[in-house]
Amino acid sequence: EMPTIYFITPTYKRHTQKADLTRLSQTLLHVPKLHWIVVEDSDKKTDLVSHFLESCGVSYTHFAVRTPKQLITKEGDPRWLKARGVEQRNLGLRWIRQNLKDDMKGVVYFGDDDNTYDLRIFEQMRYTKKISVWPVGLVGGLKWEGPICKDGSVVRFYTMWEPGRPMPVDMAGFAINVKLIMDNPEVEMDPMAKRGYLESSVVGRLATREDFEPLANDCKQILVWHTQTAEPKMKQEDKLKRMGRESDPSMEV
Ligand code: UDP
Ligand code: MN
Repeated sequence: EMPTIYFITPTYKRHTQKADLTRLSQTLLHVPKLHWIVVEDSDKKTDLVSHFLESCGVSYTHFAVRTPKQLITKEGDPRWLKARGVEQRNLGLRWIRQNLKDDMKGVVYFGDDDNTYDLRIFEQMRYTKKISVWPVGLVGGLKWEGPICKDGSVVRFYTMWEPGRPMPVDMAGFAINVKLIMDNPEVEMDPMAKRGYLESSVVGRLATREDFEPLANDCKQILVWHTQTAEPKMKQEDKLKRMGRESDPSMEV
């Protein structure tokens, strides 16, 4: 039987949230045996995301957990200063541990809501034995970052920053067999991990480099991009708001 892909997505309220989730869901609709674990960064599940998920057509589980105050980036802080989506991904892991039976086959993938995914990566990651790896496009201040492989093993990592980290690639560049997650129930993402060590805080406790299984044609192909959606300009909206004439709030965008 085909293993299930557990696709864990943290998501938060912003102007482009519904657009990003729509685009992602319409990718995921093409993937068989995929379960989408959507975890909102909020105290409660929002109506927008609840209604969206009900009609999106993807099999899903929906949660909400707010990022603790001390972990939130403040206005003007660079995006990398504090890790984003950590509590949410950990809640996803906890759900997997509580709900999967021992004989259920699957793979865990941390898929952010604004990245771009080629469908071919899903059929490759589905059969991950321990941890599979592949390069990610448009990340780390480079055109791409990722493993350099030879004859099916990872030789080194191409990155401008601390290539010696246990997992020196972006969250979008690896998948984990659920058995590793079940067999190591204490392993979670460390919200206090220093910059660039979030991926390593999980992977480093589950496997070593020799275990990494290169995908994407021995890591010579980009099948995932760390795209970022531009924050739309709200100049006119703000102007109308100041005049007390903002656009119809019942229009869900
Ligand atoms: N995210 C979140 N709370 C936040 C910021 C981001 O849950 O306060 C989510 C976001 O929706 C995305 C993931 O965490 O799925 C990574 O965030 P983002 O894409 O903004 O980070 P970057 O692209 O800079 O890695
Ligand atoms: Mn992103």
